This record gives sequence, structure tokens and C-alpha cells, in this order.
Amino acid sequence: MPLVARIWIKNPQAVFTATNGPAPAGGIVVADGVIVELLEAGGSPASPVDEVFDASNHVVLPGLINTHHHFYQTLTRAWAPAANAKLFPWLQHLYPVWARLTPERLDLAVTVALAELLLSGCTTAADHHYVFPDGLDDAIDIEVEAVRRLGMRATLTRGSMTLGEKDGGLPPQSVVQDADTILADSERLIGRYHSTAADADVQLALAPCSPFSVTREIMSDSAELAAKHGVKLHTHLAETLDEEDFCRERFGLRTVDYLESVGWLGPQSWLGHGIHFDDDEIARLGAAGTGVAHCPTSNMRLASGIARAVELEDAGAPVGLGVDGSASNDASNMILEARQALYLQRLRYGADLPVDRALGWATLGSARVLGREAQIGSIELGKQADLAMFTLDELRFSGSHDPIAALLLCGADRADRVMVGGAWRVVDGEIPGLDLGELISRHSAAAKRMLVG
Ligand code: ZN
Repeated sequence: MPLVARIWIKNPQAVFTATNGPAPAGGIVVADGVIVELLEAGGSPASPVDEVFDASNHVVLPGLINTHHHFYQTLTRAWAPAANAKLFPWLQHLYPVWARLTPERLDLAVTVALAELLLSGCTTAADHHYVFPDGLDDAIDIEVEAVRRLGMRATLTRGSMTLGEKDGGLPPQSVVQDADTILADSERLIGRYHSTAADADVQLALAPCSPFSVTREIMSDSAELAAKHGVKLHTHLAETLDEEDFCRERFGLRTVDYLESVGWLGPQSWLGHGIHFDDDEIARLGAAGTGVAHCPTSNMRLASGIARAVELEDAGAPVGLGVDGSASNDASNMILEARQALYLQRLRYGADLPVDRALGWATLGSARVLGREAQIGSIELGKQADLAMFTLDELRFSGSHDPIAALLLCGADRADRVMVGGAWRVVDGEIPGLDLGELISRHSAAAKRMLVG
């Protein structure tokens, strides 16, 4: 779909702006990929437009933003040996299978994950890729190409694992790399792909995998390299109590103390999961401005615990949502993840937790986590025209009253229209130019091959 220079998304049924501002009942005017006018009811654009899109049957949201994923895991969804296990044994089953990733398999896995996200209303996705078996040196390059093919935005993290079984870590030696290789590749990728432009399609971040799979040295070296290049840092932290035990035994520290000891406690970092924090740690993370990617479905599937998302955000920590990797969700559906976040957080905080708060995590909260709140995450003048639009004409919505609440309460799972930077990337619930049937068939065949070598 070519970029339309100037488009009026006219008279939307409802708009969630993710701000305190009034909903633009007259619509949104987009020019050259940016939101340039928000119209009151009855208003019309200040100058002529090239296209008018009648949105009277569409609920319009800022494009959803996913802050934690492992795209490659779409090849190991619902795999029996890992279907009913908690985190550590789940990982030990999966590491040897993931070691069989090839460039072709990764490309299919990434394309599936991105397509699924896009169809669910997601316009920006973070990925945490930390498996680099022999022959897959270009894993992040492959991801960049897929992101560009689909016309989305992404924060791609160069992940790493350095602490193998022989040194007391969890992963087998076959999937760990040495620090020099990791740091050199990180620097190469930042130089080649990281953009700080307002309309950046690709940003890079550095992401040692987790306390139990990396050394302290790669944590501090990554922090130094990230500071040098002005990129963000990402890791898994405080996902399970097993991990907390590991940190105490190996480092003599709780997880947040460990994070601080390696130079990560600050606004440059965001953490996958962030479940097992005490009151003092929540205050410290909030004061530091360290972000948390709340992953409700994964946390329920692996019974890891319930993150204290409301308290973290109230303390000052950016909080966003992540679908997490597809071996622990196993869907990559952002609008459904917002529903899961609403319900899991209500279990902790009560039924008066507003629907808007969960939608806020999926949009502006996630933008803050990725450090992109100045450009994306809300419907405001001057922001990128990243929009997710849903219709309420399916059986599941029949009889619903509040259109925005209906998205989560009735279980919306597929966007009708998605725009990224002013370009339509989903039209009538489909991705133009992508043959989903063919993709599913090739991806499923690749997933079968992953199990045998
Ligand atoms: Zn994860």
C-alpha cells in the first residue's frame, strides 16, 4: 500500500487516545505519516485531503506496542514436553531444540510473529533474540528485513547467553557465546541499523538473557556499550522464585541488588516480567525509572506469579505489556494480551481497575518502556500516525454498549485496519501482499523439522 499523503479518518465510532485530552469525534487528519489535526465533532480538515476513510464503524486506538517477545519461539508452540512445566525445566527441554534454528527457519518464525502481532493491532514490537547457533550469525539482520517487509516498527535486541552448564548456568554449552563475539556483533548491529529519527522503523538494544544464563561481566560490558551508543538495555528479571534463589546463591544478592551492581538500575533498562519485587525494590525501580514489560499470559502459563504492575507504575516505573515468546503464551496477540493484563491485575488489585489502564499499558506505557513516548503510543498532534482500528460487528460484540470497554471485555482479537506511519498495513483484516496460507504451510513444516534436527 503506498503512503497516502493526506488522509482524514472521519467520524470514528470511538477513540482511545491514551491521553487526558478529549476524543477527536470529528476524526484524525494524517499528513506525511504524522497526526496533524484532531477534529471536534462536526469539524473538517483545514486543507483538502487525498483520501477520506469513513471510520464510523471503527474503534480507533493508538497502534499497540509489544515490549517483550522471542519471535523464534513461534516454531515451538504447544510442544508437549514443555506444555506443562515451570520455567527452569521448560527451558531445559527447549534449549536443545532452539539450537536447531537456521536462517530460513528464523525468517519464517519472525514473519509469523510479526504478522500475528500486526493483525492484532500491534504496530511496534520489541524482540529479544538470544539464540545464535552456528550459521545464524545474521539473526538480527534477518529480523530487520522481516520488520521492513511488513512495514512495522521494532526495537530489536541483540541478546546473549554466556553462562553455560559447565560454569554453573542453565543453558547447554552449545547455545552460549563468548563475550568478544557478542560485543563485536552488538556494535556492528547498532552502527548498521539503530535509528534515532522520529519515524525510526528499527531501533537496537542490548539484551543479556537472564541472571542464570549470563555472566556479570557481559551485563556490565553491555551497559557500558549501551551508554556509549545511547541504546537501551533489556533482560529478564524477577520472573520466578527459582531465579531469585539462583541470584542469592551465585551472587549473594537479590535480583534488584544484582541489577544495580552491574550498572543497570536506571531509565536505560527495561525488564521482562518483573514479578518478584518487594516494596523497597518497587520504590527503587520507580525512582530509577527502570521499565517493566508485564507479560500476563506467560506468567499464568508458567505459573510464575502476578507482577505488581499498578504499584510499579505508581512508583514511577514505565509499565508496558509483552506477549512474551510463543513457547510460553503461545499467541502473539496484543489486544488479547491487554485483556489478560486487565484480568490478571484485577485479581491483585480489584475489579475497579479501569479498562483504560490496561489499554494505557498496551500503548503509551509500552512506548515509555521503549523510550519512544515522544513519537508513538498515543493519538496526539505531532505523533506518528500509528493506529489500530477495530470493528464491533462480530457475534461476540453484539449487545455491547461502551465500544472501548467492549474491545477487552468481549475479547477483540483481530484489527480491521492498521496504519503505521500513515501507511495502511492491514486492510479489511488482511495484510496486503502476504499469503498467510503459504506462510502457515512453510512455517509449520519448519516447526516439524526443528524437532528432528
Ligand atoms: Zn521472555
